[in-house]
Amino acid sequence: MAETLLEVRHLNAFYRNRGRRQQILHDVSFTIHEGEVLGLVGESGCGKTTCGRTLLGVYPKTAGSILYEGQETSGLNKQQRKLFKRRNQMIFQDPYSCLDPRMTIGSIIQEGMNVHFTLSPEQRNQKVVELLYKVGLTPDFASHELSGGQRQRIGIARALATDPDFIVCDEPIAALDVSIQAQVVNLMIDLQQEMGLTYLFISHDLSMVRHISDRVGVMYLGALAELSDASLIYEKPLHPYTKALFSAIPDASRRGGSKERVRLQGEIPSPIDPPPGCKFSSRCPYAQELCRQQTPELRELEPRHFVACHLAEKLS
Ligand code: SF4
Repeated sequence: MAETLLEVRHLNAFYRNRGRRQQILHDVSFTIHEGEVLGLVGESGCGKTTCGRTLLGVYPKTAGSILYEGQETSGLNKQQRKLFKRRNQMIFQDPYSCLDPRMTIGSIIQEGMNVHFTLSPEQRNQKVVELLYKVGLTPDFASHELSGGQRQRIGIARALATDPDFIVCDEPIAALDVSIQAQVVNLMIDLQQEMGLTYLFISHDLSMVRHISDRVGVMYLGALAELSDASLIYEKPLHPYTKALFSAIPDASRRGGSKERVRLQGEIPSPIDPPPGCKFSSRCPYAQELCRQQTPELRELEPRHFVACHLAEKLS
């Protein structure tokens, strides 16, 4: 087992929205190991982006701890924080909005380098050229109009420019044409393996998450519902929400079409006013009184397979 790179314990985050407390993360705990890809899935608004950004300190946490190589990130001094920022980067959802159209491609990629490294102009240019080749582009792209896939490759090169260990990939393929999503994901897999990177891969594309991830966490209304190895969770989901979510994935292995789709009733509740007890209780077909009274803990029901459901044994 690889070393633990990041450990999240009982992470909570809330915002004030028009004077009302809106809790975005509820008691989220998980670890990420060196060289691992942890996928994070769930419906829009479930807190997966907030979770990724809170890990990097972009958003503040309200309670809980984030340990990076065993050290609490909120206790880092100025120098340690600068190093933390260099080693931990982000690839954004929308490659169009995250690239400044007034900047050249070279200067976009160099931004992080200039902050974190002391390099001569020749060394910086050399590194830009190396990074462009690494992401499948050539230096002459600087003068071209870029497609969405090429822009995302620039976004990836920019993230790699500070020689990071860990990258939060926040819906990196959501804004791309379906035809090039797989190319970008395969590039990210190649880079991860070649450079020994660790990813938190946030996406609503369940098939791509399965393709790239070693383990997968499922979030619902700011809390982790289930967490396990990708093969285990996709083959045998234990939480009623995961079962419903994954039932929408076309199953090519079954002759004649997909498995039976589980359709959830009702809308995802507002994070301002979540249901008491289990957050899924207002939509769960198996909800009982206990579910509405007590919040289920995330517990290891089977080896390496964690689930937050009071009735998981009965329902598995
Ligand atoms: Fe459904 Fe109850 Fe399990 Fe929540 S704890 S997922 S409401 S059965």
